[in-house]
Amino acid sequence: MKLTILGCYAATPRTLTNPTSQVLEIRNRMFLIDCGEGTQVQLRKNKIRFSKINHIFISHLHGDHFYGLVGLISTFMLLNRQTDLHIHGPKGIKEIILLQLKYSNSYTGYNLYFHELTSNESEIVYEDEKVIIKTIPLKHRIYTNGFLFQEKIGDRKLNVEAVQNYNIETCYYQNIKNGKDIILDNGTIIPNTKLTFDPIPPKSYAYCSDTMYNEAILPIIKDADILYHETTFLETEADKAEKTMHSTAKEAAIIAQKANVKCLLLGHYSTRYSNIELFKEEAQTIFENVELTDDGKTFDFDYESIGIYL
Ligand SMILES: [Zn+2]
Ligand SMILES: [Zn+2]
Repeated sequence: MKLTILGCYAATPRTLTNPTSQVLEIRNRMFLIDCGEGTQVQLRKNKIRFSKINHIFISHLHGDHFYGLVGLISTFMLLNRQTDLHIHGPKGIKEIILLQLKYSNSYTGYNLYFHELTSNESEIVYEDEKVIIKTIPLKHRIYTNGFLFQEKIGDRKLNVEAVQNYNIETCYYQNIKNGKDIILDNGTIIPNTKLTFDPIPPKSYAYCSDTMYNEAILPIIKDADILYHETTFLETEADKAEKTMHSTAKEAAIIAQKANVKCLLLGHYSTRYSNIELFKEEAQTIFENVELTDDGKTFDFDYESIGIYL
C-alpha cells in the first residue's frame, strides 16, 4: 500500500502548495482521492500513470477538493482513453461535470459513470476480490464523506521448502494457498499449517477531510493502520476551526488515540501557517506516531511495521 500526496493544503493553490489530492496504490489498484486544482500537474510531477486511475473518490464539493476534476476528465479524453472511469462523490457532482462538458461541447470517448452519495450512514462504495472501500460520513459545512480503504485478507503463503520436501505437484499449490490439507499417495494427510505461512496481514487506510471533531466516526475507523485526518488549524485558532467546521491538530490526535490507529497523518493545513511542524508538535502532545503530509511526499505502508519512507 503506497500513498502519494499530490496536495494537502486548504483553500487556495499557491506557488509551492496545492489543494487536496492523493493517490492510493493498494494491491495493484490505483485510486485518486479528491482532485483539487493542479492535480494533473502534480500527477505528472510525481510520475503517476494517469491511465491506471479508474476510480476517483470526491469527499465533498468545496472547490479545493474537486476543481481539478473536469480538467482531468478532459485530459483523459485528449489522451484517447477507452477505459471506463468511475466517479464517486456527493449528489450534484454529475450535474456539475456534465454541464461543463455540455457547454464546452466536449464528450468523452470512454464511459463515465457517476456514483452519487447521499447517505449519512457508512456504506460500501467499491468492492472486488482484494479491496473494499466504505464511506466515512463526516461533519462539515456541506455534505462530506471520508473513505476507508481496506485490503481483504489474502491467500496463505506457500512454504516452498515444505511442499518440495513432500514432492507435492505444482497443480496443488493454489489449493494449498487456499488453506486445503493435502493427502499424499500413501494416504498420509499433511495439514495445511505444515505447508503454508499465515497471509500478510491486511492493511487499512482511513481518509478524513474535511471535518470538525466528530466521535461518530470512531467505530468506522477503529484500529485502522493509517488515519489521515485534516488539521486545518492549531488550537490557537480553535474558534475558527469550530466556526468553519474544521479540526485542530489536537482534535485530530484525540480521534487517532480514541480510534486506536497505528499512525496519524496530518494535512489540509490552513495557508496562514508558515511552519507546519507546529501541527506535529501539537498532535504529539496527545498521540505519538504522527507524520506530516506534504505535497510530493510518499508513504509506503508495506514497509515493516508501518515504517514510513519520507
Ligand atoms: Zn477543504
Ligand atoms: Zn471543505
